Amino acid sequence: MPLVDDCVFCKIIKGEIPCSKLFEDDLILVFLDIAPFNFGHALVVPKDHHHSITTLPANFHARMMETASKVAVAQMRALKAEGFNLVLNNGRCAGQEVPHVHLHVIPRFVDDQPIFKVSKKKYESIDEMQKTAQNIRAKLDQ
Ligand code: AMP
Repeated sequence: MPLVDDCVFCKIIKGEIPCSKLFEDDLILVFLDIAPFNFGHALVVPKDHHHSITTLPANFHARMMETASKVAVAQMRALKAEGFNLVLNNGRCAGQEVPHVHLHVIPRFVDDQPIFKVSKKKYESIDEMQKTAQNIRAKLDQ
C-alpha cells in the first residue's frame, strides 16, 4: 500500500512533518512518541500505509519486532530503564488513534503504574475455556 496524504505517520515518513528519529531503514521508521508514557517512548512504524496489522505484509512484521527489540535494549541502556512494554493498539476499540500500524516501545521503571488498567475476567469453568479455545482454533485455518 502506498503512503497516503491524510495520515500523520505517512506525512512523517515523507518528511512533511518533523519527528525525533531514532532509526530508519528500507521498511521501517522509528521516532519518539510526542505524548510519551515515559520519556523515550518510541513508535516503530512501517513505511507502508495499513490501518491494521492483519493486512501488513509479513516481512514488515518480522522487521518491526526485530527493530522494536533493538530499540528497547537501547532505551534500557540510555535511560536506565529496567524493562519495557511492546504495545500495538489495533482498531478504535483497542485504543488505536492513528490509523497507520505502529508498535509502541515504552521504557519502564520499577515504580511505574500499570499501563493496562482493565480488570481480568474469570472463565466460569475449564469447559467454557476449552470451548472458547475450540471456537478460535476453528477460525485459524480459514
Ligand atoms: P495509538 O493510540 O496506538 O494509535 O497511538 C498513536 C500515538 O501516536 C499516540 O501515542 C500519539 O501520542 C502519537 N502521535 C500522534 N501524532 C504524533 C506525532 N506527530 N509525532 C509523534 N507521535 C505522535
